[in-house]
Amino acid sequence: MVKTTKTPTPTKPAAVKPPAPKPAAAPVVAVKAAAAVAPAKPAPAVPVKDTPAPAPAKTATAVPAAKKPAAAATPVEVVAAPPPPPVKRVPAQPLPPPGPTKSGALFYDSHMHTPLCKHAWGEPEEYAQQAVKAGLKGIIFTCHCPMPNGFWPTVRMSESEFDTYLAIVQRAADAFKGKLDIRLGIESEYFPGCEEYITSLHQRADFHYVLGAVHWQAKEYLNKFETGTIENFRRTYFDHLAKSAESGLYDCLAHPDLVKNYHPDSWCFAIVKNTVSTALDRIAATGVAMELNTSGLNKSYSEMNPGLEMLRMMADRKIPVVLGSDSHKPVRVGEHFVTALNHLTEAGYENVSHFLNRQRIDLKISDVLASLKKAADHNA
Ligand SMILES: [Zn+2]
Ligand SMILES: [Zn+2]
Repeated sequence: MVKTTKTPTPTKPAAVKPPAPKPAAAPVVAVKAAAAVAPAKPAPAVPVKDTPAPAPAKTATAVPAAKKPAAAATPVEVVAAPPPPPVKRVPAQPLPPPGPTKSGALFYDSHMHTPLCKHAWGEPEEYAQQAVKAGLKGIIFTCHCPMPNGFWPTVRMSESEFDTYLAIVQRAADAFKGKLDIRLGIESEYFPGCEEYITSLHQRADFHYVLGAVHWQAKEYLNKFETGTIENFRRTYFDHLAKSAESGLYDCLAHPDLVKNYHPDSWCFAIVKNTVSTALDRIAATGVAMELNTSGLNKSYSEMNPGLEMLRMMADRKIPVVLGSDSHKPVRVGEHFVTALNHLTEAGYENVSHFLNRQRIDLKISDVLASLKKAADHNA
């Protein structure tokens, strides 16, 4: 999450370590072959760097173009160009068996960052180390995505860093193989008008989890939508939240009441309750999950995102919830998860979810609570 009150120091975090040479294991992060990313519509204004296939032998086995049987060929026949061979996907690194690991770990922290976003600190391996301590089975990196047209560039990886992102997540996944399941996700900006860019972005790697985020703090967002009253702006935010779910682009919506940090002193849930209710009806109709983000406790309106009242309204509508610490430093991985799970129970939930391969996995909250304690004790 982007901090709203404490402006990150302008000093750049330590340079990201270059990826270590890859072992022969099949990558978790299967980069799609460039052929797969060709957009159906005209390219966006800012050129999207094609994601190169890392090593032809690993990513795609060349499929010979279909040949006409020799007997059918005649000297005068004009043979049309064969269709491109089907893109062979790398078989993703197998998912861990469902259920708890030997140490009892079961759950994932599904929201954290890397130094590539310029306001997070620590190497992916340090986040992973903390996750093991916290008794987690896995983590999903969801760093801030690149955006076109210079959209708020100081808080995200650039286009040219996208491949490095894939590589450092892969590096950590290899380093923690057998100890922690590490997967690739992305925190993908929702900004009206950028849908085409975002659609092609999501095709550029085999993301396990795509977390949609409306960041009202972006200068571009404020310039366009900060019109009228404070309440009006908050209503616009919740409308965009629902639109982001309706776009079909995302698995889950990040920190879904982030706008309470806009003029936090005057935030009053009762005033926006009807607006939230309408937005949640629209979101529930899409089947998209919503996040309970524990980093809200560190923001100007100090409460998880969303707060308990909104969580109850989500429970009434059976909207699945994914937990995320939104760590921008390693020590926060898995932070406040027990409190968050208790909030969910209090709101009326029995299950909590996470995603793998963009498929939702629902777990019993009671099982997750027991697993966190058991695995953390085991790993202590
Ligand atoms: Zn985040
Ligand atoms: Zn952030």
